[in-house]
Formats: sequence, structure tokens, C-alpha cells
Amino acid sequence: MSRPTGSADAGLLEPGADAASLPDALQRAADDPDLPGDLRALLLRSREALFALRTEADAAHLRYQALFDAVPDPVSILDTDGIVLDLNHAGARAYGRPREDIVGQPIEVLNPDLPRDHLVPVWDAVHRGRTYVIEVTNMRGDGSRFPVEVHTAGFEHEGRPCLVAVARDLSERREAEVRYRELMDVMDRGIAIHDVDGRFVYGNPAALRLLGIRQGTSLGDTSNLGDWVAIAPDGEEMPWDALPPVRALREGRIVESTLVGLYHRMRRELYWLMVTAVPQYPPGGDRPHQVLSLFSDVSALKRDSAMFDRVQALAHIGGWELDCGTDRLYLTAEAAHILGPAGAPQTMEALIELLLPLDRGRLREALGAAMLEARGFDLELQGTRETGGDFWVRAIGGPRQGDPAISRLNGTLQDIARDKHDEAILRAQARTDPLTGLLNRDAILEELDARMRDPARAGVAVLYIDLDRFKFVNDALGHAAGDELLIAAAHRIRMAVGCAGSIARFGGDEFLVVCDAGVRASHAEKVANTILDAFGDGFRFDAEEFSITASIGIARAPDDGDRPQTLIQNADAAMYESKRRIRNGWLLFTPELAQSQQDRLRVETHLRRAIDNAEFHLVYQPQVDLRSRRVIAAEALIRWHNRQLGEMRPDHFIDHAESTGDIVRIGAWVLREACRQAAAWRDEGLGLVRVAVNVSYRQFLGDDLAAHVRGVLAEFALPGSALELEFTERVLIEDAPDTLRTFAALRDMGVQLSIDDFGEGYSGLNYLRRLPIHGLKLSQLFVGGVPDDRSDVAVCQAVAGIARSLGLGLVAEGIESEAQRRFLIDLGVPVGQGFLFAPGLAPDDFARRLREGRDQGL
Ligand code: C2E
Ligand code: MG
Ligand code: MG
Repeated sequence: MSRPTGSADAGLLEPGADAASLPDALQRAADDPDLPGDLRALLLRSREALFALRTEADAAHLRYQALFDAVPDPVSILDTDGIVLDLNHAGARAYGRPREDIVGQPIEVLNPDLPRDHLVPVWDAVHRGRTYVIEVTNMRGDGSRFPVEVHTAGFEHEGRPCLVAVARDLSERREAEVRYRELMDVMDRGIAIHDVDGRFVYGNPAALRLLGIRQGTSLGDTSNLGDWVAIAPDGEEMPWDALPPVRALREGRIVESTLVGLYHRMRRELYWLMVTAVPQYPPGGDRPHQVLSLFSDVSALKRDSAMFDRVQALAHIGGWELDCGTDRLYLTAEAAHILGPAGAPQTMEALIELLLPLDRGRLREALGAAMLEARGFDLELQGTRETGGDFWVRAIGGPRQGDPAISRLNGTLQDIARDKHDEAILRAQARTDPLTGLLNRDAILEELDARMRDPARAGVAVLYIDLDRFKFVNDALGHAAGDELLIAAAHRIRMAVGCAGSIARFGGDEFLVVCDAGVRASHAEKVANTILDAFGDGFRFDAEEFSITASIGIARAPDDGDRPQTLIQNADAAMYESKRRIRNGWLLFTPELAQSQQDRLRVETHLRRAIDNAEFHLVYQPQVDLRSRRVIAAEALIRWHNRQLGEMRPDHFIDHAESTGDIVRIGAWVLREACRQAAAWRDEGLGLVRVAVNVSYRQFLGDDLAAHVRGVLAEFALPGSALELEFTERVLIEDAPDTLRTFAALRDMGVQLSIDDFGEGYSGLNYLRRLPIHGLKLSQLFVGGVPDDRSDVAVCQAVAGIARSLGLGLVAEGIESEAQRRFLIDLGVPVGQGFLFAPGLAPDDFARRLREGRDQGL
């Protein structure tokens, strides 16, 4: 391609129509027969060469045209005057006009706004061998305009300098630039550009807003770095050369998502920014000339995360995430704190190492199941921190949601050390009797159960301890004193038992000791004896001292029961029997005892219905003047006839009736029946026979006894002197609150009061002085031994002495022999009763006896 001139149709090598006819002229000349042959041949060769040349030129032109039209941007060829010599297809398309409209026209046809001498700078650049680049506006055929960037270069043709101008349509770029600027404006991420000297070159509105720079402020003014302090995430000041843009410039690589706090000294504001800094290189340069920083305000996020950390710390719950591939363990601040503030584990394996051996396996198994089967877990784990000190955590975890490959597990970690501690305290509390600090009922049952199941133990013994006379202290001195007594008693039992067994408070004043039965069966008895010894000394309250003893029942497994409940029941039965029989002692459970308790149960069952079934009646034993044998009075004694049980002596059922409380109703019946009988005798003309009625201590505890007696006497129009009440020392021991008043009231009515079975009991003599009683009944226990048994003689003598010195009457019981009568007369005992004179008699027999005596003048 050598001459890009003329129209495309004319062809490059044919400046005129002459050129087209040259081959024909050559042909014609060659056809001239006048020419010499060699010349004609030369002419023909020239013609052929010319043809060949023309064909090649045509091909070259076609090649040029194809290339020219293949350029996607508009390309025009101008001559020195700015006349358009040629325009490619893209040009025709871009300007929206046919080529013929443009070719041959001055360039203004494409750009009417060009200044006159617009070609001067172009040629200037071209002459200096450069490409001239300018952005201008071109016009389409329809008059519309569009921005172009025109690159113009020079080239020579046949010594004629020409210009080739490539115009690039900037419409899309301009639109993109507008869109880009708009984007920058509306984007909520800050974008800033700094140059190598740290100067703020550009900031989008978000950047200015985030940095608190007012729009319109000259950016140069904001570069006063002294106003800002950079803060690292840990709250420490961050040196400037650690800032992401500075690092990106220095290191020439992107610094990604770095948390930076910026504190403005004057405004006293702190922003937390997440910054990514991208170094930018000049074209062809190998050192960044500026840095683009993208940042967003994460102050709220940081605040939330600080709050989240705080909440985690408060709740003692941290979070964790495990990268299953690398075993790397990520912990939140609180999780790290729980596992060891200084040396929190960095891998799951390191965490597992900290755990108790048993928990290691549990966690490993759970992690395996979580990874392989996507199963979640919830474990309580114990371990020791790297730095020492134990931790107790609840770890909940599982695969991350939406992670089908299970590449990560995450969850929470809760510090439950405190809960465990509280739990332990609660557990201990739940097992403890709050008053005495001993084990409680549930705890000792558990303990007993465990001991009984333990095959290593030879045998287990249960000691059931009940305080004697506790009720007395509690009622007399109040509940505070009662509590104090229980605490003191618990202390003594604890000291006595030591580590020989476990002790519990089992009920009100009941205690239970569980100990080994021992190789020799005597171990439990030894423990029982030590306990009884511990009660040897009295208990002091204020100034007073009280003697309080204990009754103990012992049952041993497996002989006396193979279940805790049975064993305790049997120990209780033995205790009950011990209290009934001896008090202040212990008794071993025996099958016979169980039998007797069963019998008792039977008796008690029948007893309850005995009054309604009219199974009771009274017999009357005469009390006689020992010298004259004259009948002075009668003691009413109860008899019970039950169809199934047969004839029951009072000894066999009064105790039961007392323990069940039935004695109160029975006693009331006896009292009324005795008075009815006395009135009947009186009405028969036998005169007024004083009847002695036995009264149980329980009757003193119940309703007002004196009022009841008054009512019955009134019912039968009997004077108080027709009645004598016998009660045992138990009345004094149980010490119902109103005993003294009741005594006084009865005495005021003229009712005789006497202490039955005197000498058997436990009361001290001081009781007798305080009580408004009339007489004592010397127990047949001692009468039976006289005159031969010296100790019985001594007791009888002592009782007689007491009666005399206190001015009390004395009646001897159970006189069976003449010798006894003699002895008692000699002792100065005036009245007695016994088989020597008469047993208990039916009312008619008694009446007959009375009449006979009268008849004999007695
Ligand atoms: P107690 O009040 O000392 O009654 C005397 C007991 O001695 C009576 O026994 C009587 O039968 C018995 N006895 C009388 N003379 C002799 C004798 O020479 N030799 C012997 N070995 N025994 C003699 P009983 O009737 O079996 O009564 C026993 C106890 O039962 C009574 O002893 C009394 O404490 C109580 N009791 C009897 N009836 C009643 C009652 O109605 N109410 C209450 N609360 N207790 C009663
Ligand atoms: Mg009696
Ligand atoms: Mg008696």
C-alpha cells in the first residue's frame, strides 16, 4: 500500500482514465505490423507485466480496504488541509452517513465546533513524531453529538504528508464514569486515595462522612495527622506505619480487612473502621504511587461485639469453632478465659489434653459422631487449665448449619463450675437435717441401702434411738429448749459414734445410726452402750439440769431384714420394746419381739371396739383395815372379755391402750361405771363405799380431767369423798402442763388422790412435797418380799417412813400371807388389799362381802 489517494473505486495505480486504456494502447501498438518483431514482443511483455502489476495492485488495494474497514473505531484519512480523503465502515456507521457524503469534505463535517487553526497543534505533535490525542465531540448525520477521543498520527504518501485519525467513541466510557461517580457517591463504604506522601488525594462522600470531614473541605486540610490517634483492636495505640494504607504502600501488596480504631482528639470521637488497602501502580511502574483504601464503619459492630463479649463474660458462656481439617480451635474471649486466660488451647487436641481422662474419651467420641454423623452434643466436662486451676464446663456443639461437608463444628462453652459447686451444696443440704447437721431421713436410707448392697461388708446394723422424756422438756421449756436439747443430743451421739457409723436425725427426737455389724455381733451393742453412756450426764438449760436418757433398738442385716425399710422397722420395734420395758437401755430385735408386736397390733385392733361392744366390766377388790379386816373401800379393776382373745388382764392391754390413746375413752368409761356402781350400792342401802379408780397419765394429758370427774360425780349425786383416784408416777414424769391445777381442783372436790405402785418408779421425793396428794400405795413388788427379803423390807420401811413424815396415808398392795399382814401392821401400815382378803370381786360378791362384814359387826 503506497498511495492512499483518490476514491476507492478509482484504484491506487490509476490516477486517470488514461491509465485504464494503457494496456489496450500497448496491445494496439503491438498489433502494428510496421513495428519490428522484437519491439512488438517487448510491447506485449510490457503489457503482460502491466497486467500483472495491476492485478497485484488491485489485490493490495483490496487488502488495504479490508483492513481499513475491519478497524472497529472510526478511522479517517485527512490531507494537510483537513480534507477527508477516506473513511472506513465504522466511521460511516458511527457518523450515520454514507461515505460519499464525507470523503472530499473538510473535517468540520464531522466536528463543526473545531477552531480554525485546530490542525496546528496536531501537525506540531506529528512533526515531533508523536501521536496527538484529544477529546472532542463529533456530530452524526442527524446532528446529534457524541464524545470521542481522537488519536491522530501522520504518514507520508508520495511525499505528501497525510493524517490518519482514529476516533474512539467515549459515550460508553463517559456513561461508565458517570455511573462510577454515582456509585462512589452512594456507596456506604468509604473509599479514599492517598499518595506516597500520605496526602489525602480523594475521598468519596462516605469516606468524608465516616471520617467526619465536611463536604467541600479542602482535603489537604484534613491531612493533619496529629488530630488522629490510631487504635489497635486491643485498645493499644497503633503506630502510623502499622496502618493498612501505609503498610500497603510500603509492602506493595493488599492489606485485607484490618480493624483500626481512629480517635479524633479534638472531636473526642472514636471510630472503628474495617480497612482494606490496595496499592496502585502507575502504568509500567514497579512501585506503588498511591493507595486506595476501602473502609466501613464497624463501630456499632465493634460495640455489639464488645457487648457480646461482655454478655458472654456475664453469662460465663463463650463460643468456639473447630476447623475439622486443621484441628484449629477458635475461641471467643470468654471461652478462652474459661479455659485458661493465659494459655487457652489452640487446637481441639490441646483442649482434650486438659480434660480428666474419662472426659477425654467422651469428648472424642462426641466430636467423632458430630463429624461423621452430623450429631450434636451436650457434655459436661472437667479439666485442669494449662496454668493450673480446675475448670468445669458444659460444651454444646455440632456441625455448622448449612455445612454439608462438615468442615467445621461450632458451639458454646459454659462455665458451670459455680453451678456444680452450688449443686454440691444443695445436694449436701438436701441430705442434711438443718437443725442438727446430721444426715436426714432420705440420706440415711440411701446410705443404708448402699451399705446393704455392698458385698464387701460382713453385715450392717441399725440402731434406732429415741430420747426418753424429750416431750417433757419440749412441753415444759418450750420448743427453743427442745431444739437445743436435740442439738446437744445429736452432738453427744456424734461424739459417741465417732467414725464407727453414719448418723441421722430420723424424726422428732429419733436418731438412726447405721454401722457395721462387725465380725463379732457385739459391735453394734458396743456402739449402743457408748451412746447410752454419752447420755449419762444431765443436760443443762438455764439453771436447771435434766436427766434425759435414750432407748435404743438394734436390728442387723441380713438376719433381721434384708431391705432397709424392714431393718429400720425392726430396729424401731426393738427400741419401742426397750422403752416399754426398761428405758435408758438397748434391746436387740428378735423374731419373738416381732411376734409380740404383732400380737399387740391384734390387741389394739380389738381394743378399739371393746367399749362399743360392751366387752369391759369392773371387779372390785376390797381395801381392808389390816387389823380388823373390815372392808373400808374398793379398788375398781378393769376386766376385758373378748370373744377372740378371751379373758384379758389389764397388764396385757392397758399399755396398748395408753400408747394408742384409747385409754382416755376407756378411763372415762371406768370412772363412770365405778361411780354408777358406788351410787347403786348406796341406793341398795350399803352406804357410801369409796371406790378407788386407776387413772392413766394419758387422762391427764387429754381434756380437763377435773371437770370430767365433777360431771360424773354430779351425774350420780356422789360426794367427792366417794372417789379415790390412783395414778402412777408416770403422771408426774409426763408432767402435763396442768397437772398441778388438776390435782388441786380434784382435791378441792374432796376426791382422794394416791400414788399407785409407789417405790417402783423413778420420781424423786421432791415431787411428793409439791403434790396435794393424800396417800401412797406401797407396791406389791416389795410387799411380796416381806418379811424375808431384806431389801424389800428396807424399801417398805422407807416408804412407810416417807408416808409418815409427809403426813400421807399408806395402803399396802398384794398382801397374800398372814406374815405379810403382820409385818405391815408392825410397820404401822393401816390399810391393805390382797388375795389374803379378797381378789377383785364382781359387784354382787363385793356387796355380799360388805353385808357379811356388817353382819359380823365389822
Ligand atoms: P394396780 O392398780 O396396782 O392393781 C392391783 C393389781 O394387783 C390388780 O391387778 C390386782 O388384781 C392385783 N392384786 C391384788 N391383790 C393381789 C395379790 O395379793 N397378789 C397379786 N399377785 N396380785 C394382786 P390387775 O387387776 O391385773 O391390774 C393390774 C394393773 O392394771 C393395776 O395395778 C392397774 O395399774 C392397772 N389397771 C387395772 N384397772 C385399771 C383401770 O381401770 N384403769 C387403769 N388406768 N389401769 C387399771
Ligand atoms: Mg391401783
Ligand atoms: Mg398397784
